[in-house]
Amino acid sequence: MRRCVLFGYRGTGKTGIGTILARRLNVPFLDTDALIEEGSGRTIPIIFRDDGEERFRDLEREVIAALPAGNCVIGTGGGAVMDAKNMERLRAGSVCVLLTADLATIGRRLARAPRPPLTSLPLQEEIGQMITHRRRQYAASADFCMDTSATSPEEAADEILSFLEQGTIPAPARETAFRWFASGPLPAPERAQLESLLTGPERDVQTRFLGIAGWPAAHSKSPFLFNRLFERYGLNYHYTRFEDPSIGTIMRVARDIDAKGLSVTIPFKKDVMACLDEIDDAAQQIGAVNTVVFACGIARGYNTDWLGIRKPITGLQGARAVLLGAGGVAAAAAYALADLGMEVTILNRTPAKARTLAEHFGCRWGAWDAFDGLNPDLVVNATPLGMQPDTRSPLGADQLKKEMTVFDLVYTPPVTPLIAAARKAGCATITGTEVFIHQAREQFRLFFGIDVPDTVIREILA
Ligand code: NAP
Repeated sequence: MRRCVLFGYRGTGKTGIGTILARRLNVPFLDTDALIEEGSGRTIPIIFRDDGEERFRDLEREVIAALPAGNCVIGTGGGAVMDAKNMERLRAGSVCVLLTADLATIGRRLARAPRPPLTSLPLQEEIGQMITHRRRQYAASADFCMDTSATSPEEAADEILSFLEQGTIPAPARETAFRWFASGPLPAPERAQLESLLTGPERDVQTRFLGIAGWPAAHSKSPFLFNRLFERYGLNYHYTRFEDPSIGTIMRVARDIDAKGLSVTIPFKKDVMACLDEIDDAAQQIGAVNTVVFACGIARGYNTDWLGIRKPITGLQGARAVLLGAGGVAAAAAYALADLGMEVTILNRTPAKARTLAEHFGCRWGAWDAFDGLNPDLVVNATPLGMQPDTRSPLGADQLKKEMTVFDLVYTPPVTPLIAAARKAGCATITGTEVFIHQAREQFRLFFGIDVPDTVIREILA
């Protein structure tokens, strides 16, 4: 059997449910808190009191690193999810169950088993704040969620057993979803693989799905990248293409097959926002969502494009930047540049659009021909100029000075006419592939809580 790992805040029932579940499965139950206490010969309150939380987290990491790879049920400490290395180790080859409960229930259960506080707040407030703080990681830890507020540990253990045996996708939903995928533009090998995973006689009921939502989505490198990452990190997931002219249809199919998440591309980054239960602040500001995470019946939207743009230029904090373009990806770029404290001027073919975006993010703006007076440290191209088969560059060779860093968000071809001209002029250059790499890394972290080194992504894409 795969290991079964229970995640969740304190008081959600991990120890009680884990003990019963392990007994029913006839495997050992390993509670990481108990292993820390055994190994150190001290109770957790005493470790916290004498050595502080940081030392406790070190001990927790050591215990998690030494856990067996199979045939057991593991109960984790409530904060274990916050460490990406813990997540990588716990998720490998496991089925992960997130236990939740409402705040009043957790408060009642914790009042019976006092522990050192993690903040100076009253207990109920601390619980609310900690759960909010850890919400992303808890969502990332879940292959399956269970609210234990109104169930006994026995009932909860039964429900987990039924998930282990039957998965969460009813057979009719599998059939319907497969017919929908088969009616779309999927290539034959992917269609055959989905048929086997969704409806084949040998299907693994615990396999879960993610995918790229777009129309079209054939250009995306995400299926190739994510499926390689699943193999590497021992995740029982398959990443496919959700292609349809309606984002509403895509979201319905994704919910029907209990998808873990979606990457969202053209033309749905704005429209998807109306289909979500919650949207993170940055995505709200940018006005676009490129990542959807489903957990515990809630669809949350994020934007990782801005993080992908921010990462390669982090060293240029405070620079004077010119942003070319005022469309969707330019909004993510403006957010990233403003976040780095840059002095940003947005130039656009249609100046009124530059003005609207600039006013939203507190930038300057102008028409395209204002470029020559600006002499920026950084130029970011957020227009499709130079995207295959277009061979135009948004700037002429004579406009590029060797002191400039030139960042082209276009990534097909990898070396665009602008990047080629900038290299010729002696500029430092950053290609659009960098954005894809870093935004995918952030997306993977949102889906699974695992931090993939960018070298691993580069190796897979090479
Ligand atoms: P968009 O919303 O359609 O916006 C396009 C922008 O480019 C608008 O400001 C438009 O100006 C301007 N533009 C279009 N054609 C132009 C032309 N011939 N001359 C001058 N300006 C022109 O598109 P988007 O979603 O922001 O995407 C823009 C590009 O970013 C895409 O082509 C894609 O290659 C790239 N991108 C890269 C990544 C990555 O991961 N590296 C991610 C997303 C997008 P008007 O306002 O005047 O129409």
